Amino acid sequence: RFRAVVISKAGDGPQEVAFSSLDDADLMEGDVTVQVERSTVNYKDGLAITGRAPVVRRFPMVPGVDAAGIVERSASSLFKAGDRVLLNGWGVGETHLGAYAERARWKSDWLLPLPAGFSADEAMAIGTAGYTAMLAVMALERHDIHAGSGPVLVTGAAGGVGSIAVALLGVLGYHVVASTGRAEEAGYLKELGAAEVIDRGSLSGPPKPLAKERFIGAIDAVGGTTLANVLSMIRYGGAVAACGMAGGLDLPGSVAPFILRGVALYGIDSVYAPKSVRLAAWERLDRDLDRARLASAMRRIPFEGVIDAARDIVDGKVRGRLVVEIG
Ligand code: NAP
Repeated sequence: RFRAVVISKAGDGPQEVAFSSLDDADLMEGDVTVQVERSTVNYKDGLAITGRAPVVRRFPMVPGVDAAGIVERSASSLFKAGDRVLLNGWGVGETHLGAYAERARWKSDWLLPLPAGFSADEAMAIGTAGYTAMLAVMALERHDIHAGSGPVLVTGAAGGVGSIAVALLGVLGYHVVASTGRAEEAGYLKELGAAEVIDRGSLSGPPKPLAKERFIGAIDAVGGTTLANVLSMIRYGGAVAACGMAGGLDLPGSVAPFILRGVALYGIDSVYAPKSVRLAAWERLDRDLDRARLASAMRRIPFEGVIDAARDIVDGKVRGRLVVEIG
């Protein structure tokens, strides 16, 4: 038997979360059985565990959307016992039992070999949040936004997506403006790579259709009023990569930035991104993510602490990235 975090729900009652003991018969379909070594806590894991948004689509559910582990058994030609693997998304922790368990069974199509340049801890310090930050940077690059193009804004900067975005853009030479609600994290953000730190309050008032042109690009983890304000501040021809909703799912803005300044809004999805896109993003992370900056954005927690950490992340209390020590 093995330990797992299990979210259960009876009928229309509230969901319950607890550590539980499962056996292999509880696992869902898949051709690879994995001994999970490390996981992490993303905002979505927080939503799943608190039930604050309908992330979990099947009960009982083991949450956890990211894993690094070792293949125990494989019926797939892609992997063999002993291989180190990485998993991000694909509905794991939502529709298929996830990573907060000592053992898991997944589809080989969902797994990537753990990139040689990363330890299990580093891969989970990146996790879905960091790989999404990389996808967002790549979207800005495809829009021809490069270091020297002008200031690039990162919202939710002290969070997971934000911290890795700041670190990546900083290494790549961008003038990074980090927006945070936690003024006490200004030093942390400057060490990660921010040239300027601004108060997120300056992005939370009622959005105007157009505001002063300040940023050539932005990576937004917040959504809602923040994203509407960000769009109004993008310079002519610039772009925003929208990847999150920590401040709201709505978008209470106007089309003015699109039709008067030619601003582009790119949607970023990490969960069902095809394998080729994932491989390209992890290759770039290996090349461009400074390991010392990654270490400064990361904190390890024991498996037992994961439920509390999930509650903390939706309350905006987690800085950077958490690595969960499972096996
Ligand atoms: P996180 O670590 O909690 O970071 C979110 C940050 O947003 C917080 O640290 C906080 O930053 C800021 N924030 C929180 N509540 C806010 C509010 N009400 N108003 C303004 N700012 C607020 O979470 P994460 O794991 O990085 O995820 C960030 C977002 O990206 C989430 O919405 C998540 O679902 C989404 N996401 C999407 C994808 C995808 O595939 N599209 C992948 C990963 C994550 P400060 O304290 O610095 O202000």
